[in-house]
Amino acid sequence: MQLLFATQNANKVKEVNEIIADIPNLKVVSLSEMGITDDIPETQDTIRGNAIQKAEYLWEKFGKNCFAEDSGLEIDGLNGAPGVYSARYAGEPKNDKRNLEKVLTEMKLKRKRTARFRTVIAYIRDGELKCFEGVCEGTIRKEPVGTGGFGYDPIFQPKDFDKTFGELPSELKNKISHRAKAMDLFIIELKIKDKN
Ligand code: IMP
Repeated sequence: MQLLFATQNANKVKEVNEIIADIPNLKVVSLSEMGITDDIPETQDTIRGNAIQKAEYLWEKFGKNCFAEDSGLEIDGLNGAPGVYSARYAGEPKNDKRNLEKVLTEMKLKRKRTARFRTVIAYIRDGELKCFEGVCEGTIRKEPVGTGGFGYDPIFQPKDFDKTFGELPSELKNKISHRAKAMDLFIIELKIKDKN
């Protein structure tokens, strides 16, 4: 089955392809591979709302089975920010380094440092919508450490580890991350449907 993935982010396509590598008969294609250059709207005020909006846009416009994913970092000491605004927390244009620095500045005097990455995948198959959610709990470091990954990875230390996502090997991150957990649930759905 060919599935259209609603993202222009090459990092995400790479991560997802690593996660689904062992499933036969499944080909995930990116927007650019399909020649789609639309700026897909994500104007909702929740992560789940944005994921659904992106998938519905693709289904309604192209009528292809598709999925969209939306993620964000929720920091308890910042009342859940940056949350749905994670990508553009420091304003336009989107800049991972400035976002990370803004978080570090706001977290400077905070003692409560718990946080979580959340991913929601919205999947539309033959017009039917299903959502899958993954959460990765952790804490926010005081300084960035590590050069791996992207986004907030250098300041996020997942629970039960003493290294940041920026330090951990990508194979390990791909097992424990919010996106991996949401993908696991999504893959179970794909495998069940494949058998029927
Ligand atoms: P998106 O809405 O899924 O594109 O993600 C929103 C923001 O969260 C982006 O700026 C990403 O940098 C950040 N983000 C999402 N997933 C991760 C991750 O696995 N590590 C670090 N940052 C992430």
